[in-house]
This record gives sequence, structure tokens and C-alpha cells, in this order.
Amino acid sequence: MPIGNLIAGRWQPPERTYVRKNPSRPEEVVAEYPLSGKPEAMAALRAAAAAFPRWRQTPPIERARILQRAARFLYEHLETIARDLSVEVGKPIFEARAEVCRAAEIFEYYAAWAWQPQGFLLASARPATELRARRVPLGVVALITPWNFPIAIPAWKLAPALLLGNTVVLKPSTLGPCGAFHLARALEAAGLPPAVLNLVIGPGAPFGEALAEAEEVRAVSFTGSVEAGLRLKAMLAHRPVRLQLELGGKNPFVVWEDADLAEAARLAAEGAFFYAGQKCTATSRIIVHIKIYEEFRDALLEATRRLKVGDPLDEATRVGPLIDAAARENVQRWVKRGLEDGGRILIGGQPVDPGYFYQPTVLEGVPPSAPIAQEEIFGPVVTLHPASDLREAIAIANATRYGLSASIATRRLDVAEAFLNGVEAGIVHVNQPTAGIEYQAPFGGVKDSGYGPKEQGWSALDFYGDWKTLVVRV
Ligand code: NAD
Repeated sequence: MPIGNLIAGRWQPPERTYVRKNPSRPEEVVAEYPLSGKPEAMAALRAAAAAFPRWRQTPPIERARILQRAARFLYEHLETIARDLSVEVGKPIFEARAEVCRAAEIFEYYAAWAWQPQGFLLASARPATELRARRVPLGVVALITPWNFPIAIPAWKLAPALLLGNTVVLKPSTLGPCGAFHLARALEAAGLPPAVLNLVIGPGAPFGEALAEAEEVRAVSFTGSVEAGLRLKAMLAHRPVRLQLELGGKNPFVVWEDADLAEAARLAAEGAFFYAGQKCTATSRIIVHIKIYEEFRDALLEATRRLKVGDPLDEATRVGPLIDAAARENVQRWVKRGLEDGGRILIGGQPVDPGYFYQPTVLEGVPPSAPIAQEEIFGPVVTLHPASDLREAIAIANATRYGLSASIATRRLDVAEAFLNGVEAGIVHVNQPTAGIEYQAPFGGVKDSGYGPKEQGWSALDFYGDWKTLVVRV
């Protein structure tokens, strides 16, 4: 039985469908999903608009209780959901489990905000007057999500949007809709009223066209590639729609001369290769102090050899498949291009069949300006670059159009502080992989990696809410 769209509180049997296959075993069908177009998107947006007046009047504590119950549902169904994620997008099971827990924790975190002050009171210059500010919902918000964090990303958009009293249309990627489906089920089971959340599964372009037309839409939160994000931004340019874009990265990991090299190599390999490098925050360039370059390189190759490539359902697997055949071909093209630009493969560089696997790959010898060191590959490929001083290392780190995440391995406080201050990135780590951030902190990139207010933490409340200022003569 195909999964349907959830529109106006009903799971609607789809008119057209497609099948999603398992990237580890491409002959195996995982699920059948709707291939929705503009009519379904418009119907969902209208349903969300109709549900808004009632949902905004629902007491915030009641909205929070629904998020809490949805979180419990996710914990109770943890193993099933994690397995579905792992099979559909090839995420190693230990990471899939952590992602489901993270989604549940995000729901709990935003639920807790309902017990916090909802606004503030200011002194007025006028007599007997109270000057107040209160957070209010925007209305209908559209959430567009990628396949690589199929449950955490929809959760970190949905939870603050719903808590503040907005109604939602969620459109996940066709390559990994199962996380959004499970979230919709969790919220339904938790008692979310009909049409407060609408789920539409289908390709991006018709959905973008619907958003450009639908006057109901007040805000759009998008996570995905720079190209698709900028296309969407152009489509919405004629209307005052609040827009948040979370885009790609080309994240540098710097290894300083004083670092614990075995530990730095472990962190670099984890950041570059876990989940086959398919994270926006994956390490894709490693910049190494020239004095320890060779020693670190050996340690990195050793750490890379230790990573198990294989079935994502195996507890020991750290590197699963690429998401589809096109993604693997893209990785192969990038490696070939790197060789043409003077690169040498130190390890990897080959596809592994069956399934869309690719060996974790390290290249050296390409200049930092080469396209392979400039553009997001979204696969298990990393380039090594020597640097003779910190100024040069930071200059290399900053010399791309991206600015999402960055990390440095060092025991020196002055080096760490200079890096924290000098690197152009939305998230900067010290002695940590470039990937991984906690939901209570703002998350997002600078330069071409992001546009608009940040996600997660309290910054998400600023995106999904408006301030209403009240001037009351009492
Ligand atoms: P993608 O850009 O192909 O698709 C993302 C989503 O946008 C999908 O749901 C897609 O259907 C939709 N879409 C595409 N064109 C659209 C349009 N014109 N109008 C409306 N929607 C449209 O990205 P992907 O392959 O799913 O994900 C990988 C990309 O996402 C990488 O670039 C990665 O770095 C980025 N990403 C960024 C973050 C972050 O928080 N910065 C997190 C995860 C992934």
C-alpha cells in the first residue's frame, strides 16, 4: 500500500506514485510514495490556512503537551523508525538511532519553552502606560527539507513552528521522506488537530511554484543545496515572505603542530567519512601544519582504514552507501577532476559494489583553489593541504564561498582563540569533528552556506514568531 499525503487531517490516497529503493541493495523496494505536484501543494496550503485561527488560540501549554506526547511516541518507536531511516537513506544504524532521539529531544526542548516568559514589559515614558511585547505566530509556514537528516531537520523546523502557533506544510525530499512520515504519525498520535500539519511528498519545483503563488504563506524554511535554495529565493522575491535558507558547506578541519595527532586523525576521519560524508557539516578539507604533515597523514590513513564500509544496519558500520547512483557518479567525477588538477589518491578512489558504496578517499597535492577543494562533493572525499603558519591555515579555510562549520585540533589556547576569531563559519569547533551540534545552540552558516535567521535554540523562535508591541494606557 502506498503511503499518502496528509492533507486537512486525512491520509489521501495518491494519484501518482514512485518507489524508493534501498541504496545498499538497489533492487529492493523500500516504500511507495506520492508523486505530488502543484495541486496537492495548493490544497495543503489552503488546509493549513483554514486551521490557523483555531491553532493560534490553543493555549501554548496545550500545544507543548502535544509536542511532549509526540516525543514519547518517537522514543517508543525508536528501533522501527531508526531502521526505516537507515534502510531508506543508508545511514549507519547507530547514527540513525541518535537522530531519532535527537528529534524527540528537540520536541521536548521546544515544549519546555511554553513555560518560559512569552514576552516582556517595558517602562513607558507616558503616564499610566504599560509598554509590552508579546511573541505571536506568523500563520502558514512551509518547511522544505533534504534527505540526509530525514527526521532531525523536519523536527527542528516543526517543533518551534508548531509551539508558537503556526500551521505547517512540510515537504521532505523524495529521496528520504520516511522521517517526515514518522513525525506526522507521531504528532497525529499525540493529538495534533487536523490540518495543523500537512505533509506533501513530491519533487521540489512544483512545490516552489505553489509557494510563489499561494498568498497564505508567511514564511519558508528551506534546507538543501545552494542552487535549489537560490532558485527558491528568486521565485519568492516578489512577495514579502520570510525566508530562511540552510545550505551546503566545504568545511575545513585544521590540525596544528601541537595536536594529539592520533586523536586529530580520528576526529578528521569521523568528520569526513561517517555516513559517507553526506552531512552539510562533513569535513571536506584538512589543513595541516607543515611540520607534522607527514606524521598526521599516516595517522589519518590509519584511522581511515579502521572505518567499516558496509551494510548500514550492521552496528559496526561507519560508512554506508551514497544516496543514489547519480550521487556516486558525481563523487567519481570529482575524484577524476582532482587527479586532473594534480591530485594523488592516498587511499580509496574506487566504487564498491553492489549498492552505491564508495571507498573513503583522501587526496593530496591539489591546490586549495582547485574545484575539488572549492565545491561541495557530498561524498566520502577529503583533500589534504599543508600550511606553514596560522594565518595561511585560516586563509585557506576561508577561501571558499561556503561558511558552515570549521574545526581545529590544538592544545594551545592562543591558536584556538585566533582560529575561533578568524575563521568564517557559522559553527566553529575546537578538538571536535566539524559535524555535530546541539539543538539548544543556534545553527546555520554564513556566506553562501546560509541566509536569514539561524535555526535551533532560541533563534528559531525569532524566525517562526513575530513581536507584537502593545501600548496600554491603564
Ligand atoms: P536539494 O537542494 O536537492 O533538495 C532539498 C529540498 O529542496 C528537497 O526537498 C527538494 O525537493 C527541494 N527543492 C528543490 N528545488 C526546489 C524548488 N525550486 N522549490 C522548492 N523546493 C525545492 O538538496 P538534497 O540533495 O536533498 O540535500 C543535500 C544538500 O543539503 C547539500 O547541499 C547539503 O549541504 C545541504 N544541507 C544543508 C544543511 C544545513 O543545515 N545547512 C543540512 C543538511 C543538508
